[in-house]
Amino acid sequence: MVYADVIVDISHENLDKSYQYAVPDEFISKAVIGALVEIPFGRGNRTIKGYIVGLSATPKFDVSLIKPLLNVPSNGLVIESHLIHLAYWIKDTFGATMNDALKTVIPVKRTVKNVEKRMIHLILSQDMAKEKLEEFHKKHNVARARLLEELLKENGLDYETAVNKLNISRQTIKALEEQKIIEIVSETIYRNPIKRKEIENQKIVLNEEQQKIIDEVKQEYDLGIRNTYLIHGITGSGKTEVYMELIEHVISQGRQVIMLIPEIALTFQTVNRFYKRFGDRISIMNSRLSAGERYDQYLRAKNNEIDIIIGPRSALFAPFSNLGLIIIDEEHEGSYKSETPPKYHAREVAIQRAAMVGASVILGSATPSLEAYYKALEGEYKLYQLNIRAGQGILPRVHIVDLREELKKRNKSIFSEQLKSLIIDRLNKKQQIMLFINRRGYAGFVSCRSCGHVMKCPHCDVSLTSHNNGHLVCHYCGYHEPMTDNCPACGSRFIAAFGTGTQKVEELIKKEFPGARVLRMDMDTTSNKNSHEKILSSFANQEADILVGTQMIVKGHDFPNVTLVGIIAADLSLYASDYRAGERTFQLLTQAAGRAGRGSEPGEVVIQTYNPEHYSIVAAGRNDYKEFYKEEMTFRKLMEYPPASHILAILITSKEDEKAKNYAYFLLKVINDLKTSNDNDMYRINEENQLGIIGPTKAYLSKAKDIFRWIIYVKHIDYEELKDIKNNLEKIESPIEFKGVGVQFDFDPMNGY
Ligand code: ADP
Ligand code: ZN
Ligand code: ZN
Repeated sequence: MVYADVIVDISHENLDKSYQYAVPDEFISKAVIGALVEIPFGRGNRTIKGYIVGLSATPKFDVSLIKPLLNVPSNGLVIESHLIHLAYWIKDTFGATMNDALKTVIPVKRTVKNVEKRMIHLILSQDMAKEKLEEFHKKHNVARARLLEELLKENGLDYETAVNKLNISRQTIKALEEQKIIEIVSETIYRNPIKRKEIENQKIVLNEEQQKIIDEVKQEYDLGIRNTYLIHGITGSGKTEVYMELIEHVISQGRQVIMLIPEIALTFQTVNRFYKRFGDRISIMNSRLSAGERYDQYLRAKNNEIDIIIGPRSALFAPFSNLGLIIIDEEHEGSYKSETPPKYHAREVAIQRAAMVGASVILGSATPSLEAYYKALEGEYKLYQLNIRAGQGILPRVHIVDLREELKKRNKSIFSEQLKSLIIDRLNKKQQIMLFINRRGYAGFVSCRSCGHVMKCPHCDVSLTSHNNGHLVCHYCGYHEPMTDNCPACGSRFIAAFGTGTQKVEELIKKEFPGARVLRMDMDTTSNKNSHEKILSSFANQEADILVGTQMIVKGHDFPNVTLVGIIAADLSLYASDYRAGERTFQLLTQAAGRAGRGSEPGEVVIQTYNPEHYSIVAAGRNDYKEFYKEEMTFRKLMEYPPASHILAILITSKEDEKAKNYAYFLLKVINDLKTSNDNDMYRINEENQLGIIGPTKAYLSKAKDIFRWIIYVKHIDYEELKDIKNNLEKIESPIEFKGVGVQFDFDPMNGY
């Protein structure tokens, strides 16, 4: 017998309340995960609808008490079924409980009351209303007459307008309602996060490169060919124009579009461009929306009130029933990977969702991920290039400065001579400058020069960072304490901060270039709701000469007056603890350099580094993606890192270090047993094609928020083999002593552990 777990209420609070039903033989083929079913419910056995979220051969309780389901109606594809099905695929592919997977695809139901708008409508016919009006005039019912006059002019009057503008009392309105002259109707108003604006449609003439992509993709689309396309286009090459043209094509055929943009690039400038073109058929999602607003967006999509949704990763689950296209801009961005289970990648889920409903996928980036470019070269995606800047700008000239040489010249400042003279030049010309540093805070870690003691967070295994306000802060959990005068280990007074952060750079600029107007943008200055936008628009309005900032300043902004970009220390991201460090460095430098020279004046970029010969830096300096790809791919192949191979990271967490460690070894044994119990068949153990295991070891971040972390890495060239290990580990019954130990899976991780 097959048993189905059925949920009857699709809301976050009730997702874990499933009920088991038996599946009668006649429905076996239709009873798939996600299927809509009719079931007898409760004591009275009234028939209600539900969705299947799990199937198994084992009954959860006494078989005689399990009721059979009544029907599996096949009335077309219900969007909920599709999303539940997708959740199951996510759970299976990335590892998680079905519950976590469902919570990923289904939004939290509205918790805030809807903003309600009440409208007054006339019930009487015009003639009868006019009769009534005369009657009111005769009786000197001035207010009633005034209301009726308004309603005769225009049937449908806003309740608040009537009360506040026409000075008609609530009692008067109520009286007319009771006399059945008028009725009051509530309309649910969706909270639209972007205010209505005039649509202005000034179309750009696309260049040949852009037009070629558009023509080919449109042609395939119209022939019913669905594909995944990768547009590799340099910064400012006009990718967004291409997206907009294709979006228009797809929605003109009555289908919908999901467009993912990293949250950090979702600025007013970007959003407004789309809004001007598509008006209020668009909806925007971002993390600043309230749960209620988010739920409204969900409903608007479900009710076909919008055609396009723009947002970060979670917008991927917009409940469009006729989806035609999914676009992922800045496809390489780390934020497309979920950091909580299920640790899915939006790219893979987008391709899966598109395949399920017959949609196409477009990926775009100036610096594609190794994964995407690899697949494009293998022919799995169709590759397009945009090699020239579309607008007026040209690519900037890049100088790489060796910081070791500066030290030899006894230049101890953080500005190399070249950067300094270029800054002075731009300040004189009243052009703008962006200085980029991939760190935040005042400075790096704080350590003792006598004994080497490093100030660390008591809850996390990371060093504390010194801030301007005299505090030491943990950027991981927010813990802070006052800066100390004496080393807590040896009592020495020689304890101080090292490294360079954004605050420090800001301070040094002010000292070095007095009179320059400086803005700073990092996590500390953007913690308020709109501060991010404020800083950017202030810089765009040329209220400052220099913008100093972290990663945040390099994403998708167009500042035509910026002609100089300085990268203070390009290597910082090279020392990250994971295999993607080189890739991330190349991406950051390329994107940062791409900020210069977007207007009519040519731009220059200064990259300051201690590793001028590192291929990530050299290739970024030449804006040579292909060269970078070649070098990086050689490294990945040699080390068997993705995309040359696949890695499954298994994170084991516990409040007790020992317990986490023991459980990690327990899992290791399970994996080893699996390997040998399959007659070398499953894992095809031979020279090239074997399962590699690294660990268990303490994670690099060995403690976070008082939870200890251990890690095992398993490598195999075939994703399916790793999935099989994950499935087996998900199924094992752990000894009771390991109760409370957590396990998380992460395939081809984006960040180190
Ligand atoms: P990307 O998304 O690749 O960074 P955008 O689409 O934002 O590039 O284009 C960069 C700038 O060039 C924008 O200001 C855009 O309006 C302009 N632009 C794009 N295509 C053209 C074109 N064919 N002709 C003139 N300007 C263009
Ligand atoms: Zn901490
Ligand atoms: Zn000390």
